[in-house]
Amino acid sequence: LDSDVPPRQRESSARSYPRRLPVTLVWGRGAMVRDSGGLEYIDCLAGAGALALGHHHPAVDEAIRDILDRGAPLSTLDLPTPVRDRFIEELFRVLPPGLRDGRILFCGPTGADAVEAAVKLARTVTGRSGLLAFGGAYHGMTQGTLALTGRRSAKEPLGPLLPDVHHLPFPTSYRSPFGAQPRSEPHGGGGRSGTAAGGAASGMAGRLVEWALGDDLSGIAAPAAAVAEPVQGEGGVHPMPAMFAATLRSATRQAGTFLIADEVQTGLGRTGALWASEAIGLDPDILVLSKAIGGGLPLAVIIHKAVLDGWQPGAHAGTFRGSTLALAAGAATIREVVRAGLAERADTLGRRFMEDLRTVAAGDPRIGQVRGRGLMVGVELVDPESPAADGVPVADGSLAAAVQRQMLQHGVIVEVGGGRDAVVRFLPPLTVTEGQLDRVVSAFGSALASVRA
Ligand code: PMP
Repeated sequence: LDSDVPPRQRESSARSYPRRLPVTLVWGRGAMVRDSGGLEYIDCLAGAGALALGHHHPAVDEAIRDILDRGAPLSTLDLPTPVRDRFIEELFRVLPPGLRDGRILFCGPTGADAVEAAVKLARTVTGRSGLLAFGGAYHGMTQGTLALTGRRSAKEPLGPLLPDVHHLPFPTSYRSPFGAQPRSEPHGGGGRSGTAAGGAASGMAGRLVEWALGDDLSGIAAPAAAVAEPVQGEGGVHPMPAMFAATLRSATRQAGTFLIADEVQTGLGRTGALWASEAIGLDPDILVLSKAIGGGLPLAVIIHKAVLDGWQPGAHAGTFRGSTLALAAGAATIREVVRAGLAERADTLGRRFMEDLRTVAAGDPRIGQVRGRGLMVGVELVDPESPAADGVPVADGSLAAAVQRQMLQHGVIVEVGGGRDAVVRFLPPLTVTEGQLDRVVSAFGSALASVRA
């Protein structure tokens, strides 16, 4: 046996983060992680947003330790346990009002599996097959969720996926698919009200949704569901304008199409509100949650309005739906996020963080836009030497990769995403301190300066 092969060389080339960032992490607490050489980093990846309370929050550790000490059964599938009951109680106490009398289904435990469940439910109840999704969307890596993704490169090698999925442009405030650009606004965007151009884009996008859902001429039969992220994450941190959310909600309601809000990444305080969909008035029929609600352990659920409860027992199953450790960690996390007011704190800190990022990079033409909601923030980097036809320079993925590497040198772990992977993404734990965010800002400034051509 070739026992000399190091463990990392046994990993498939599909792995991503470890390939890009050459660190071996051995310790974590709060927003900090430490590598095997003793160097510390601020973790702005935070388990891709799963670690709302950071690493080893005392409330989460205690909840996990309690399960171990009491010898509670670790996995019971759908058999009730007090831990499971408590998780459901904690979650329903804080759900958006429109879903508080709804039903919960434990999934996966991945976000992708929960999106699959949501789509299956909508198709089952409506008897329709069509689905509406958005450019730039990310809902997971299964073949069903890839059909919904807005990123062509992720699905093209796979041949036909789910049929009957229609994509509409997402009303972004920068690089708008509708052409209206916030001209010469290199540091703009990200504000709650959005730009005038963003408003126009949202109006056009809304009309397109109405057309797709309600107009015989569109050739699109009313779909079973429209699936949307209230803030697109992997797609490059694009908040959905409230004006567009209102149109999407009313048009789907009129068409008898269920609205699925994918809050896998935005849920539980990340965007400065407990639920990003509630903040923009989306009022979904089905809410998809994962990441933060498991306190860093694998957990994913859908919550749907009670009237949708029209499917058979076993219609969606999976071995690991609702592990006791994850339910305990999740219940502790929900309680702590609410107790400590971490959503409101994310709003305050996020606004300041975005302002500081704009300031540290002021005048640098490589900053396309700083945007986000709460502590879900992205900086789109561009190549100022290559203006595209509409006046917005081309997104610069190699610059973002260089900034990412340099930030690691300066002690900060960040993610990249969006078109051409040109958006540097910040998803720190909601417990991140102001001092740590200041260090992230200065690391970003230093990284930008050090990759100056
Ligand atoms: N939906 C959204 C909005 C996500 O951000 C993600 C993960 N980044 C997923 C779904 C998929 O979740 P998972 O990776 O757990 O399958």
